[in-house]
Amino acid sequence: MPSEFELIARHFARPTPAGGPVLLGIGDDCALLAPPAGEVLAVSTDMLVEGRHFFPGADPFTLGHKALAVNLSDLAATGARPLGCLLALALPAADEAWLAEFSRGLLALADDCGIPLIGGDTTRGPLNLCVTVLGSVPPAAALRRDGARAGDEIWVSGELGDARLAVEILSGKLAAPAVPAPAAARLHQPMPRLALGLALRGIASAALDVSDGLLGDLGHILARSGVGAVINADAVPIGPALAAEPRQRQRAFALNGGDDYELCFTAAPDRHDAVLQAAREAGVPVSCIGRIVAEPGLQLHDRDGQPLTSDSRSFDHFAEP
Ligand code: ADP
Ligand code: MG
Repeated sequence: MPSEFELIARHFARPTPAGGPVLLGIGDDCALLAPPAGEVLAVSTDMLVEGRHFFPGADPFTLGHKALAVNLSDLAATGARPLGCLLALALPAADEAWLAEFSRGLLALADDCGIPLIGGDTTRGPLNLCVTVLGSVPPAAALRRDGARAGDEIWVSGELGDARLAVEILSGKLAAPAVPAPAAARLHQPMPRLALGLALRGIASAALDVSDGLLGDLGHILARSGVGAVINADAVPIGPALAAEPRQRQRAFALNGGDDYELCFTAAPDRHDAVLQAAREAGVPVSCIGRIVAEPGLQLHDRDGQPLTSDSRSFDHFAEP
């Protein structure tokens, strides 16, 4: 049985890229990181637990991708540039084939996004993957949840609801011969919207990433900013797999889905064209779905202005049976 150190050396340790912000990587007590002058650290951590966030027996390559992707999505939502990441891993056994695939998935995305793995911890236990990301951003440019103002437009990137469709099929709640490919890709290999987050610096007034369902997550911006919102449900972009489903399901999954990892953000109406330009630069479509209002609460209507009722509660781990 290989030791913890052998496993790390074999699957995770890589030479520290020269000339970057990482002065010392894996192998010492602490990694050393030098954020660019004048910038502050943006730090976030997210845990993936077997049976809760992914199905037992899940493919290790996509798990490696997703464990990092959901964390990078938080950096994207802050408008931060990635600096480095850490991986805390509990494994039931030292399964080398599993580890090789897992690290391949994680490190492939790390390379794509220019974020070196600079440390972590490895222990035996029920499968649990915890990634911490460190990024940097000029303090005044950080996208936060508390900056939305009455009159701002509300935007969302990409398309929503396909990951929820995949989860419903995989968990047997929805009958289907197979999970449609775009829905499977969305659930297993979300792409963090880092370029869009960076392009929205100085343009968006507030932002977050949609991980637990659009309406519930937007509710966090509303609460932190002390405002309300009016949303046109028919303006919310629907994922390509979900688009083949009945209209009611499209709405439900796009508004209250989960695992979307798109950005929801607000911007003053006179920044409308700047938002569209930022989205073009980032190569990600964006849709304007509503407006911030002074009166607290979330009002939902359809394209004809007819009010809709909706369970605005997003996916809540503690509210689940
Ligand atoms: P310590 O006991 O001092 O915390 P460890 O023995 O846990 O050190 O880890 C040794 C080195 O390997 C450290 O630099 C740590 O950051 C790194 N490391 C441990 N596990 C992982 C992992 N899963 N991925 C990346 N680096 C890791
Ligand atoms: Mg340790």
